[in-house]
Amino acid sequence: MKRDLYRGHVSGRNPQHSRRGESFWRAAMACLLLVLVVIGMHVRPAAADPLSVHAFRMAGDATRMRVVVEFDREPDFQWFLLRGPHRLVVDLPESSFAFDSEALEPRGLVSNIRYGKLYDGHSRMILEVKGPFAVERVDMLRNETSPGYRMVADIVAASEEAFEAALAEQAAPAGSAVKAPKAGNPEVPAKTGDDTFTLVIDPGHGGIDGGAEGVSGTQEKDVTLAFARQLRDAFKDKPGISVVMTRDGDRFLRLDERVRIARQAGADLFVSIHADTIRYKGIRGATVYTISERASDAVAKAAADRENLADSVAGVDVAEDNRQVADILVDLMRRETHGFSVGFARSLIREMSDTVQLIKNPHRSAGFRVLRAPDVPSVLVELGYLSNKKDEAQLLDADWRARAIDSMAAAIRRFAGLRNGAGG
Ligand SMILES: [Zn+2]
Repeated sequence: MKRDLYRGHVSGRNPQHSRRGESFWRAAMACLLLVLVVIGMHVRPAAADPLSVHAFRMAGDATRMRVVVEFDREPDFQWFLLRGPHRLVVDLPESSFAFDSEALEPRGLVSNIRYGKLYDGHSRMILEVKGPFAVERVDMLRNETSPGYRMVADIVAASEEAFEAALAEQAAPAGSAVKAPKAGNPEVPAKTGDDTFTLVIDPGHGGIDGGAEGVSGTQEKDVTLAFARQLRDAFKDKPGISVVMTRDGDRFLRLDERVRIARQAGADLFVSIHADTIRYKGIRGATVYTISERASDAVAKAAADRENLADSVAGVDVAEDNRQVADILVDLMRRETHGFSVGFARSLIREMSDTVQLIKNPHRSAGFRVLRAPDVPSVLVELGYLSNKKDEAQLLDADWRARAIDSMAAAIRRFAGLRNGAGG
C-alpha cells in the first residue's frame, strides 16, 4: 500500500511531475509576462503617460496677443496655419488638458480656443483668430523657476495677403506641416504686392461713445462720421487709392479694433478723424497728432487722455493694456513707420494751412492708443474744437468740410504717390 502508494507515487511521478512542471512553468511564464507588462507600464511613463498641459494664459488686445501654454515636460510639437476661419494649430503628443475655463474666454484677437485628442497618441490645440494674422514667434522655453516647459506664441493682426503668404510658405516644402521654427515667421510685409494704396479712414467714437459735445449740442461721433464719409467720397472712382472705413454707421468700436481693421486691411495710411473740446472756449483750429512716448505738450497730453478714454466709456477695462503701452511706444518710435507718420503729418499741415485755421504749433504728439499700428503710418486729426462756437459751426458747414477735404485728399494723394514711387 505504502509502496504502492510510493510506487504509485513514484510510478506516477514522472508523468505527473512533467505535467505539473509544465503547468508550473506555464503559470510562471504567465506571471513573469504579467509582471513584465505591469513593470513595462510603469517603466515607460515618459512615452505612454499623456503630456500634461496644465495652464493656458492669454494677454493682449485685438491687435496683438501673447498666448502661453504650460507643459510638464518638453513636448515634441508642430504648429501651422489654417484658413477659413483663420487658425493657428498646435499639434502635440497625446495630452491631458487641465485648463481653467476662465482663461479660455475669447478676447482680443482670439475668438475661440479648442483642444482635445486628435487620434491615438496625438492631441491638438486650435486658436481661432479674428481675421488674418501673422505669427511673430512660437517658442518652447524651459521654465526658469519651476519644473516644466512653456510655449510662447505671439500673433499680430495682419493683412489677408500676409496670411496667404505665410500659408504658401508653409506649404512650399515637401512636408505638409511646418516644424516649429526657432526664429518664427518673417514679419508682416509693410507693403503688399499690388499698386493700390489702401487708405483707412477712422471716424472717431460711435455708438454708446458720443465723444466730445459741442456748445450747441453737436456730438463728435456724428461730425467725424460725416467728415469721414465725405473724405472717402473724394477718392471714389479714382484709381490708385482704395478706401476702407473702420466704421460706416453709428456703432461703438474699441480703439484696438480700429487698429486691427487697419492692419487686416493692409493699410498704407491710417487717418483717425476727431473734433476735440477744451476748457478755453476761445481756442480754435485743427491739430494733427502723431504718436510719441512723451506728449509734446500739455494740450497734446490732455487730448490723448481724452481720446484714450473712449474704451472705458463702453466699460472696457484698459488698465492691463496701459501697462504695456510704454514698451510698445518705444518700439514704435524706432520703426521706419514713425518717420512716414511724421512726414505725412507735416505735409498734411502744409496743405491744410491754406484752407483751414490751425492751432499754434499744429503738429503735436502724444500716446494715442489708436495710432499704435506698428507698420501703418498713422495720424489723428482733430478738425477743430467743438467747445468753440465758430469751430462747431464750421464743422457742420458743408462748404468748409469740402475745402478741408480737398486739402487732406491732396496730401493723401501726394503721400500715396511717394510711397508707390519709392516702390514700397
Ligand atoms: Zn475724439
